[in-house]
Amino acid sequence: GDDGVGTSNKGLKVLLKGMTYDELEKWVQSHGYRPGQALMLWKRLYGNGIWAHHSDQLEGLNKDFKKMLSENAEFKALSLKQVITAADGTRKILFTLEDGLVIETVVIPSDSSRNTVCVSSQVGCAMNCQFCYTGRMGLRRHLTAAEIVEQAVFARCLLTNEVGDITNVVFMGMGEPLQNIDNVLKATDIMLHDQGLHFSPRKITVSTSGLVPQLRRFLKASNCALAVSLNATTDEVRNWIMPINRKYNIGLLLQTLREELRFKNNYKVLFEYVMLAGVNDSIEDARRLADLVRGIPCKINLLSFNPHGGSQFRPTSDEKMIEFRNLLAEAGCVVFLRSSRGDDQMAACGQLGNPGAIQAPL
Ligand code: SF4
Repeated sequence: GDDGVGTSNKGLKVLLKGMTYDELEKWVQSHGYRPGQALMLWKRLYGNGIWAHHSDQLEGLNKDFKKMLSENAEFKALSLKQVITAADGTRKILFTLEDGLVIETVVIPSDSSRNTVCVSSQVGCAMNCQFCYTGRMGLRRHLTAAEIVEQAVFARCLLTNEVGDITNVVFMGMGEPLQNIDNVLKATDIMLHDQGLHFSPRKITVSTSGLVPQLRRFLKASNCALAVSLNATTDEVRNWIMPINRKYNIGLLLQTLREELRFKNNYKVLFEYVMLAGVNDSIEDARRLADLVRGIPCKINLLSFNPHGGSQFRPTSDEKMIEFRNLLAEAGCVVFLRSSRGDDQMAACGQLGNPGAIQAPL
């Protein structure tokens, strides 16, 4: 189930990667072992290039402890299905879940010392954003914390030798992460632990289409970075392309950010803005966008749209994107242009569920 800890359907074995460090310690103690054994196990699950996927791979641990683990614990939540390397170096990893559903994880290498793993948080998505391929699937189910964490573990153990250390995590694969906020918060807690995966908080970015109550909770509970898919400057357009706006409109979304960011130090929200020709890319849109975000500590990413089969939208031309960028910069915004290729090709959450975005370069 998605109670966060999660038990395996194969039996009543507990999924180790669904536990925070504190939970693992308690669980180990409840079976009569010392906290030190929990730390040794934790390091073998997450630390320093040792990636235990099975109780056979636990050198150095006490024999009885290993026996207890093989009887009561499940090491793996995902089965590797396929790794696809695109011409631009992006790796797409497909996993089969225990119930047969398939998810994808993307690793985006870059020339600098930054390599990013893009994780999925749900199978499908309920948000129905009109420009998004994943949105068409509807929601199948939430991923458990173990299934989320293990995407990052697999990315590191499969690809660190090839691309270097995986330094960044973005929750921009399939799904609306904040609709699965309990498991997402738990997964980030596990990813941050300094004896384990040890990502730094500002190098983990959780994205959202704008679920206001969950966004408020996230900003209070977490120090990880937040990306908000904005994509429009009027409620009329946003109601159409992002139906969640009918529930939480632009004014409420931005007001919530304004309020919550007052309690954060040195924190900037990232606004994602996928540019759609004739929809949200006019000069008036640029002016309105600059006005809307005034007073919110933020950066803006302008993303070019990757059309997919049957899509009703077209990408904005490069010249127009540059003009739009310049207007925002002149108005005092911190703004970046992201092309559809290279290491920044992820757009909104779910843009990666768009086969056009990932498979086109093959
Ligand atoms: Fe869901 Fe994100 Fe796609 Fe919207 S863009 S439908 S929130 S995956």
